[in-house]
Amino acid sequence: MRLVSFIDAQGRVRPGILEGETVRVINAPDVRSYIALSPDRRGAALGSEIIALRDVRLDVPVRPQRNIFCVGRNYLEHAKEGSKALGLDLKLPDVPTFFTKAPTALAAPDATLHLQARVSPQYDFEAELAVVIGTRCKDVTETQAMDVVFGYTCLNDVTARDLQRAHLQWFKGKSLDDTCPLGPWIVTADEVRDPHALTIGFRLNGEQKQHSSTGSMIFRIPRLIAELSKGMTLEPGDVIATGTPEGVGFARTPPEFLADGDMMEVEIERIGTLRNKVEIR
Ligand code: MG
Repeated sequence: MRLVSFIDAQGRVRPGILEGETVRVINAPDVRSYIALSPDRRGAALGSEIIALRDVRLDVPVRPQRNIFCVGRNYLEHAKEGSKALGLDLKLPDVPTFFTKAPTALAAPDATLHLQARVSPQYDFEAELAVVIGTRCKDVTETQAMDVVFGYTCLNDVTARDLQRAHLQWFKGKSLDDTCPLGPWIVTADEVRDPHALTIGFRLNGEQKQHSSTGSMIFRIPRLIAELSKGMTLEPGDVIATGTPEGVGFARTPPEFLADGDMMEVEIERIGTLRNKVEIR
């Protein structure tokens, strides 16, 4: 199933299931409430109202009730390019490096991202596979971890590199408004047999900048969930961004940063393509 949040002709944000060129409306306040239902009650929430896809606008597929969880430096080649660009020795951690993005950073699929030139001259892209949690859980073992996954979507961890470096913590450089495009939909876990065997890529104005496989993650999804949920409750609708592969702008020679009018595309096999235009004023 492909789950969407959509804005109907009356301007209401509603949850639905994408069925070809139509959307079947879900009888729940929003996608997060739907995900929080027990699996047997989810079926009962599917309504009979069908709306043509062309008559709606897609919104952020799920809005977690708190920050978006992220993992830094989770692909070896990306960790290498980052250390090289900064002139640092490569030192990989024994545990995942978690940080978060503020929920106000979320942006819808196809939305234009309004970024401010006076805030940063160094906006960069990061294509990432995002995991959506389906079950309230804590202290999940690696063996149980995939059972709490509801589904997957694409995320672009847009980053103001100068701010990321100016602050000891990455939060500020990762949390500006419109720097967390998510979507275009959530593909349920049953349709993604192996989330560690997906081609992941990023195109800037049609030119391939990142191309890798989710199989290259240093810490895989079960380990990420086990580490994150250790002593900390995860909630339905929580989003975990699993890190970006090599090819990001700042590590290129010479460095490349986003410019006004750029078109960004995050594409992940079996999941979809997340497109966002950049406006920098
Ligand atoms: Mg990232």
